[in-house]
Amino acid sequence: MNTITIVIPCYNEEAALPYFWMEIRKIADKMTDTKGILFKFLFVNDGSKDETLNILRKFSVEDERVCYISFSRNFGKEAAIYAGLENARGGDYVAVMDADMQDPPALLPEMYEALQGGMYDSVATRRMDRKGEPPIRSFFARSFYKIINKISDADIVDGARDFRLIKKEMVEAIIAMGEYNRFSKGIFGWVGFRTKWLPYENVERVAGETKWSFWNLFKYSLQGIIAFSTAPLEIAFILGLASCFIAFIFICVIIAKTLILGDPVGGWPSLACMILFMGGLQLFCVGILGQYLAKTYLETKHRPIYITAETEKDYKAKNLGVDHADNYLQKGE
Ligand code: UDP
Ligand code: MG
Repeated sequence: MNTITIVIPCYNEEAALPYFWMEIRKIADKMTDTKGILFKFLFVNDGSKDETLNILRKFSVEDERVCYISFSRNFGKEAAIYAGLENARGGDYVAVMDADMQDPPALLPEMYEALQGGMYDSVATRRMDRKGEPPIRSFFARSFYKIINKISDADIVDGARDFRLIKKEMVEAIIAMGEYNRFSKGIFGWVGFRTKWLPYENVERVAGETKWSFWNLFKYSLQGIIAFSTAPLEIAFILGLASCFIAFIFICVIIAKTLILGDPVGGWPSLACMILFMGGLQLFCVGILGQYLAKTYLETKHRPIYITAETEKDYKAKNLGVDHADNYLQKGE
C-alpha cells in the first residue's frame, strides 16, 4: 500500500486553513477509497501570530492522520518546507502544498497517476499565467527567471510553484542538501531526477493575504541568484579587468597628448565623472563580494534551519494524557 505525506507550510493561515482542510480531506478520502493510498498530513506552523497553531491542534485531535511541527518563531517558507520533508521521511511520496488553495488539492490524483508509470520521480506544477498579479511584479518575476537561467546550471522554471509530489528517493536527495540559505526552486532542479511538469491556470488565494511583499520577493530572488550562481562574481571580475584596460588606454592617450600638445589646464569635469564612476563600480563589486561572504558566513555557523517548539505528540501527551513514550515502546517490542 502506498503512503503519501502532505507537507503544508502555514504562516498566519487561520482564515484559509478550514477551507483547505475541508478540500484536502475530500480528495484524500477519495484516493484512499479508490486506490487504497494512506495519507499523513504534516502541517508546519512557521511561527504564526494568529490562531493557526490552535487550529492545527484541533485538527490533530480530530484526525489521527494529522501531525504538526510548530516552530519557535517565523523561519520562512523555505525552512518550513525543509522541516516538512525531513519529518515526512518514510512515506513513499511526499507532496508540498500551500495552505491557501493556490496549489489546488484537486490536482493530486492526476499527479499521483503521473508517477505510476515509473517514468518520473516527481511531478511539479507551473502556472500558465500570472493573473491577479500586479504587472510590475510579473515583469520583475519574468526578468528574474530569464537572468537566473542564463547564469545558473540549475534548471529553474518560470512560473514553477513549490507544489510537488516527490518520490522518497528524491526527498532524500533534497534533505541531503542541508544548506542554511535555501532556495527550493533551485534545489529541486539541482538534484536532478526526472520531473514531469503539469501546467495549470493560476488561482487566487482563498482567504487571508499573501505573505510576500515586493521587497521580500526582491531579497528572495537575490538569494536565489547567490545560492545557485557565481556569475555575479565573474561579472565583477570582468568589469574590473575591463576598466583597468580602459584606464590603461586613457593613460597612454594622456601621456601622448601631453608630450605632443603640452599640458593645458582643463578636463576636470570628465575627471570628476570618471572618479565617481570608478568609485561606484568598486563599491558595487565589493558589495557583490560582501553578499557571497555574508552567505558563506551564515553557512559556516551551521545554525539549525528551524527550531521546533511543539509537535502534535507534545500537545497530546500534555492535554490528552496519551503517553507516547509508552506507545512507542510497545510498537518497538
Ligand atoms: N509561508 C510560510 N512562511 C512564511 C511565509 C509563507 O510558511 O514565512 C507559507 C504560507 O502560509 C503559504 C505558503 O507559504 O502556505 C505560500 O505563501 P503565500 O500564499 O503568502 O505566497 P504566494 O502564494 O503569494 O507566493
Ligand atoms: Mg499563496
